[in-house]
Amino acid sequence: MARLLGIDIGTSGTKTVLFNEAGVPLASHTIEYPLCQPQNGWAEQDPHDWWMAVLQTIQAVLTKSGVKPEEVKAVGLSGQMHGLVMLDAQGHVLRSAILWCDGRTQKQCDEITGLLGDALISVTANPALPGFTAGKILWVREHEPQIYEKCRHILLPKDYIRYKLTGEFATEVSDASGMNLLDVTNRRWSGEVLSKLDIDPGLLGKMYESCQVTGVLTPAASEATGLLPGTPVVGGAGDNAAAAIGTGVVETGKAFTTLGTSGVIFAHSDRVTIDPKGRVHTFCSAVPGAWTVMSCTLAAGLSLQWFRSQFCGAEEGLAAAQGRDVYDLMTDVAQKSPIGANRLLYLPYLMGERSPLLDSDARGAFVGLSNIHTKGDMIRAVMEGVAYSQRQCLDVFREMGVDVADMAVCGGGGRSPFWRQILADLYGCPVKTIASEQGPALGAAILAGVGAGVYETVAQGCQVAVQAGPTQRPDPEDAAAYEPYYQLYRTVYPALKDIYHTLAGL
Ligand code: ADP
Repeated sequence: MARLLGIDIGTSGTKTVLFNEAGVPLASHTIEYPLCQPQNGWAEQDPHDWWMAVLQTIQAVLTKSGVKPEEVKAVGLSGQMHGLVMLDAQGHVLRSAILWCDGRTQKQCDEITGLLGDALISVTANPALPGFTAGKILWVREHEPQIYEKCRHILLPKDYIRYKLTGEFATEVSDASGMNLLDVTNRRWSGEVLSKLDIDPGLLGKMYESCQVTGVLTPAASEATGLLPGTPVVGGAGDNAAAAIGTGVVETGKAFTTLGTSGVIFAHSDRVTIDPKGRVHTFCSAVPGAWTVMSCTLAAGLSLQWFRSQFCGAEEGLAAAQGRDVYDLMTDVAQKSPIGANRLLYLPYLMGERSPLLDSDARGAFVGLSNIHTKGDMIRAVMEGVAYSQRQCLDVFREMGVDVADMAVCGGGGRSPFWRQILADLYGCPVKTIASEQGPALGAAILAGVGAGVYETVAQGCQVAVQAGPTQRPDPEDAAAYEPYYQLYRTVYPALKDIYHTLAGL
């Protein structure tokens, strides 16, 4: 049986997992590295740390599993999106990578918006956001011209690892979609955008589909990793696009929700659909000839985590004493409150909001607090509010003609059957879990398997390697009971908007 390696170069660490053909993890190893914040709002990492973590995790999974190097048929890469890596003519790193969560480039993004005009959304399919890569390139050109002058190669984080493994300067369509430089409809670098931004196309990597072989392991990389020279390395995908493969979201009608710190909905679409208002992102899918629409809310699980750390000291103590998860105890209390949390609404904008509001000044709120309310009502209101915010994103997808009939849920919040049921009732479609928790690493390994000919197509690979867990169906009565609360929730932000902006200016 073939073995496939999935490497996920995340922000907190690199996780490498060795799978068999059926998607069963044989060994997994994670190595963490620091995030450097040289100034408030900046976020950088040393690409050398990623490479060291990749080497050590590959060696560790080979040792732990006892799998022989010749059994590993291909390597797939996944990773944090948007990060800017700059190399000189010798392939040496010129400066620390500027990461997706770095906020220094608002001025450059405004410039890009002005320079590109309508082409920004119609070609790159997304607004110019400080997280995206183009603004970072312009920032280096403006603030560190001596570095920009020496720069010969611009790569995304996982594509730097590809270069170290294969010597190739290459990328693939899903990750490249997050740079504001790709013609997302035609899946190639946009000559128009590059020329308007005065960026030399020669700096960018060769473009591949996510399941194509982009190169093979060099003798030096073989020596360093313990894998065989000549082992193919496929395109792979940005972390969310890889998670989509790892959760089987590869056909129209399928989507996943991540209730992690932030909340993401990621839906598959077999045609390109772009929201002219830029409320959600459109990216190339890791499935050839398909696209994905993605929303991102900033404080999903974070809302419950905030409530827990501020108000649930007693539950934390009890959980420790009983050896239980504090979130499970909080959910027990919330379940005693009825739908609508006794007429209490919660707005989850603790960090401002991205989808679908695009307002960094928005803030959280409890609306309707009364003397009768208990902690259980408040926890339920938080869980419902987060679910309302996800439903509001899904409504934008549906407005764009991207229908969703089958939803998988991942992330920490997805462990809660109670929260999943609220989502099912609000989405109006079945909500399921995925048996494997390996998301992006599994997705990268499946793409590797397609490149190596182990699977015929991405969809066939998912059929073999992705197993669903329990499914929850919407309850029509409960769904109807939530609806008036959700409709009211939608009206609260517009009513508070001016207050938020005044508050931010005080
Ligand atoms: P990250 O995005 O940082 O990787 P996770 O996917 O681990 O985060 O999700 C963490 C969040 O998941 C927590 O903030 C919490 O809101 C939520 N969470 C974790 N466990 C549970 C649980 N058992 N029930 C409900 N929510 C949970």
